[in-house]
Amino acid sequence: MTTVPLKLFNSLTRKLEEFQPVHPGVPGDPAQPPEARVYTCGPTVYNYPHIGNMRAYVFADVLGRTLSWKGYKLTHVINITDVGHLTDDADAGEDKMEKMAAEKAQSIWDIAKHYTEAYWADVKALNIRQPAQWSVATDYIEEMLDFAKQIALKHCYELDSGLYFDVSTVEDYGRLARAVTDEGEGRIEAVEGKRNAADFAIWRKTPPGEKRQMEWDSPWGRGAPGWHLECSVMGGKLLGFPFDIHTGGIDHREIHHPNEIAQNQAFCCTDGLGVAENSGARIWMHNNFLVERSGKMSKSAGEFLRLQLLIDKGYHPLAYRMMCLQAHYRSELEFSWEGLGAALTRLKRMVMAVEPLRDAEASDPSHPKFAPMREKFAAAISDDLGTPIALTALEEALAVKKVDAGIKRAVIDDMEAVLGLNLFGLTRVDLRIRPKDAQITEAEIEDALARRKAARAEKDFATSDSIRDELTTMGVEVMDGDPLGWEWKLG
Ligand code: AMP
Ligand code: ZN
Repeated sequence: MTTVPLKLFNSLTRKLEEFQPVHPGVPGDPAQPPEARVYTCGPTVYNYPHIGNMRAYVFADVLGRTLSWKGYKLTHVINITDVGHLTDDADAGEDKMEKMAAEKAQSIWDIAKHYTEAYWADVKALNIRQPAQWSVATDYIEEMLDFAKQIALKHCYELDSGLYFDVSTVEDYGRLARAVTDEGEGRIEAVEGKRNAADFAIWRKTPPGEKRQMEWDSPWGRGAPGWHLECSVMGGKLLGFPFDIHTGGIDHREIHHPNEIAQNQAFCCTDGLGVAENSGARIWMHNNFLVERSGKMSKSAGEFLRLQLLIDKGYHPLAYRMMCLQAHYRSELEFSWEGLGAALTRLKRMVMAVEPLRDAEASDPSHPKFAPMREKFAAAISDDLGTPIALTALEEALAVKKVDAGIKRAVIDDMEAVLGLNLFGLTRVDLRIRPKDAQITEAEIEDALARRKAARAEKDFATSDSIRDELTTMGVEVMDGDPLGWEWKLG
């Protein structure tokens, strides 16, 4: 099989670029493989993540899996923001963590712990691989202070409210955002005394007379770090500047990442953005948004779209992963329950197709029958993570008939390594729609269906029909002869 070079869309240049690792290793020496170092902006743990947030991590997971699949030794860091992220991405509003802690009358540490665990549960449910490290912002306060001290003199100025970064001190500020006005984004609220509208806080002082739950001493007074500083520091510290790839949602292209880049430029102390290295990472990648018409994506809406809500409504979480993979990460994806149902059905078909391979031992995947699908898969994934086409290649491979099960298993395993749908770990029963608020248990349904089967065997159609009617009133649709083998469905 021909090896296809990996091309990724770099938001910095708005171009597809061939991935060239910063640490290429020593060719031919397995002890020194080429490396890929990736930093992903993680959640702010003040609330449950919504499924849009989780799209960002499914994307980062597919990127990481692809790099591993291509033979790179992957070091992936995802941070946990437990301080510093304000209700507005630019320096306005309150600290999200402080605000939630006050609302719930709990300590920030408890809030952070609860929502970090909830996020990790979603990560697990979506079969997102564990990164090499989860870096928690509050574990890096010392390093943040060191970083800030290094850039303060040349790039920052102090106001009553904190230490601010002067964006005019770095070349080409905002190139990533492609901001049209040099006054920065309209969303940026004026802080009295800021030199440029886009200047941002590196350190936020606690206002006199106030006490924050999270605050530390600094040369600029007691206070807390700015959100942008955190990611610069953890990325640089854990992966070394420059590292290979930095990811986040597309909203980060406007404020958070331009600010991180400005700090990195200041820290790396060289000649502006012309050299990709100075922005901290060679490639900046952004997933587009998951959107929903009725506004349920907003965490301020009562019942917002959490993964748990999907599960409670009876959908297996991996149906949502499938939904994400069906769209290219750079396209907007519209959420709908019908769309989720279709993704579930597609997943179910795949799970049924791998059933005969379950006990097969994977052998060599390089068999001519599978060559076209494997070529198609490799080309699609290498073309900026083209998961929608990769999925069709997987389906075509699943449809190949009269072939040794071990070979087929090896082919599917290979594609699964990238897509992570856990096809061999799921059964068709796992994928049955089972809402939490159903009035009848699965055991009761199975029992009723067994009684109905017996009645039919006896040609007692009156009993069989009445069991069916009874099930219907309980919201169970009996699906005789369903080609997908669902047998029944809870409405
Ligand atoms: P936050 O916890 O708000 O910092 O967001 C976590 C991640 O989710 C970030 O990478 C955001 O850019 C991303 N994100 C936020 N909303 C959406 C959405 N609707 N669709 C996809 N990604 C999103
Ligand atoms: Zn970040």
